[in-house]
Amino acid sequence: MTKKEKLDELNKYWQENCKCELRKTATQAVFGDGNAEGEVVFIGEAPGKNEDKEGRPFVGAAGKFLAEMLDNIGMKREDIYITNIVKYRPPNNRDPEPEEKEACNEWLINEIKIISPKLIVFLGRHSMGRFFPTEKISDIHGKLLIKNTKEFGKQAFMPLYHPASALYNGGMREILMKDFKKIPLVLKKI
Ligand code: URA
Repeated sequence: MTKKEKLDELNKYWQENCKCELRKTATQAVFGDGNAEGEVVFIGEAPGKNEDKEGRPFVGAAGKFLAEMLDNIGMKREDIYITNIVKYRPPNNRDPEPEEKEACNEWLINEIKIISPKLIVFLGRHSMGRFFPTEKISDIHGKLLIKNTKEFGKQAFMPLYHPASALYNGGMREILMKDFKKIPLVLKKI
């Protein structure tokens, strides 16, 4: 079975069995998307309005900005895989609750295990908090972190600010772009 086929099977299972309460209010589950054979997995927070409608992650304004940053480092969306810690849109785009993250956790972990990426990039504090719960994103953004995890063994991570936080903030945009430029260098190094 290819990675893509394994992911299709995984998504089909969890779409039917996920116990996340957000299923009741969301239009649909938003599966991870992109290159299952890619070296990098980006993990966002949760689908927003556009993602909920289209059923694809990062298709709204934050997604456009993400595509722009990828272009800047010579990568395309088709090169990477992108997903969210929570697969259903929280009402009014509120932050996902701990129980909602927990309910989608096994789905996410198995998704990453199938892809087995060289590097996991967190987009924002919610996804970072899943693996580095005591850290602050303002302290560790743009840093390469190698951690021995029980889920994946030795794994490389890089936390970044969420692109939505930089959309209307020039200073934040610059920081995010600077951090983004480290991705190709890190991929060569690890
Ligand atoms: N923000 C996220 O964290 N995920 C999406 O899919 C869209 C916006």
